Amino acid sequence: MNRAGFYKPGWIEKHWPTLPQRAEIRKTALESGPELHAEVAEADILYNRGSFQLTRYILEAGTKLRGVVTSGVGIEKIDVEAATELGIPVVNSPGNTSTVAEASMLLVAALAKRLLFWVTAAREGTPPDSKTEGMELFDKTIGLIGFGRIGRATANIVRAYGMHVLAFDPYVTKSDVAELVPLDDLLKQSDFVSLHSVLNDSTRQIINEKSLSLMRPTAFLVNTARGELVDEVALERALKSGAIAGAGVDVFNVEPVKPDHPLLALPNVIATPHGLAHATESRHRCAVLSEQSMLALLDGRLPEFVVNPSVQWRLNQ
Ligand code: NAD
Repeated sequence: MNRAGFYKPGWIEKHWPTLPQRAEIRKTALESGPELHAEVAEADILYNRGSFQLTRYILEAGTKLRGVVTSGVGIEKIDVEAATELGIPVVNSPGNTSTVAEASMLLVAALAKRLLFWVTAAREGTPPDSKTEGMELFDKTIGLIGFGRIGRATANIVRAYGMHVLAFDPYVTKSDVAELVPLDDLLKQSDFVSLHSVLNDSTRQIINEKSLSLMRPTAFLVNTARGELVDEVALERALKSGAIAGAGVDVFNVEPVKPDHPLLALPNVIATPHGLAHATESRHRCAVLSEQSMLALLDGRLPEFVVNPSVQWRLNQ
């Protein structure tokens, strides 16, 4: 299932070499209504691009469904609770761990070295002066909120720069690469705070007025995870008042981000439109994982990356 026009000609042949021999692939541009229900009712598997809302109402129409497979990591557009109750496994395709960690590192380094300022200076022919200085990353502290695949990959990269790594994740109890600390301690002690948690009710606006007030005025926030992890109004205020030094932002509350978004106008913000981590390799890897998952579901096997492992699979009932 997909919005029409997503696949370029040849996409399926390149990324899903086996699936067309095992299943008829139908695409839909419908987002709601009885016609969508009729299509869903015939589907064995729903493949979902991140932008498509899979509500309980849609899932209930899928009486034959063996599973739902996403094109990437994010599952917040899927009613996972409803899927679990209906006996439908939800499977994600985490093939973009390295590229998102690299993108986070890029924002950390760009903020530290004042990349935006220097690029503008070169374009305007402004010579360097002794007043403008960046900072070293060596011996600085980064705090990672969310310590799953991407959080850990980011930790491994920043350690090569000689950074100290703190992490907060209520579901992680030990680590060899980071010191696990309570959230408030991480916010108070970090020179960089980087977000890597899933979006759910416990993490929505985890960065808000209070958490920003705990950060150092010299600290930077980096968000490559999900826009809704941050209260953008509070962030804008903190960036304008100097409560924090700057931010690197790839994800926004509402996407695609509009050119008049207030954060884009701030000189201490490096912003990209949820595209910084796009990479040929990771896109292919995600597609390969999604094909493997769909083939497993067709074979009656549960795929590796089921996000609701407690599901009583309807196929087994
Ligand atoms: P993951 O599931 O491996 O890790 C997410 C972590 O969040 C888990 O360890 C989980 O325990 C933790 N978490 C849950 N509740 C938390 C809480 N209250 N506080 C702190 N941590 C909490 O996922 P991942 O593959 O590492 O992805 C991390 C994030 O990156 C997700 O939000 C994902 O949507 C996002 N992402 C963004 C892009 C992009 O293009 N910018 C691409 C892929 C993933």
